[in-house]
Amino acid sequence: MSIAILSSLILTSAPALGTHVHGVAHLDMALNSNGALRVEFTSPKHDVLGFEHAPETPEEHEAIKDLETRLERPESLFSLTGGHCALTALHLDETPASLSASQVHSDGANPHDEHDHDDDHHDDHDHAHSSDLNIAYDFMCESPAQLGQIILNAFETFPSLTTIELAFLSDRVALTETVSRANTSVRLR
Ligand SMILES: [Zn+2]
Repeated sequence: MSIAILSSLILTSAPALGTHVHGVAHLDMALNSNGALRVEFTSPKHDVLGFEHAPETPEEHEAIKDLETRLERPESLFSLTGGHCALTALHLDETPASLSASQVHSDGANPHDEHDHDDDHHDDHDHAHSSDLNIAYDFMCESPAQLGQIILNAFETFPSLTTIELAFLSDRVALTETVSRANTSVRLR
């Protein structure tokens, strides 16, 4: 199976806007037999940033800087065991700093119709289309067949996360798993 096919499968498994639920993040992994590994993490900004509106206060601007610094290290989100995988690239689809701009340009359409939220922390939440954070890490693994486990450090980094929906695809494994705080490691082979 080529990496192009793997990528399209991963894309179709990405969460739709309607699945944005506070406390629930998604981690999608695709490992090519040549060792190329992509890991994509998608989370409501509520859980990684504490808010989803444009930053207003000095504290909110500071929170965005802190988040960027954390995300530069994939270990903030996960650790890999086996495979000798080295980070080669990082893609932040929408940087936290650009969040305010994209919300300003909201056309007022409501993509959050299915949005499942507690009302109490949601009063000032205007739900433009950029309430999710999406970041992708590219790795090159020296021995991809030996990639054995992922440990989801994101629960420790972001305390309000309760669940991570994990998907892993390689030329020999396809698994999906709902991961909770109780057991943060997942076997990949
Ligand atoms: Zn939200």
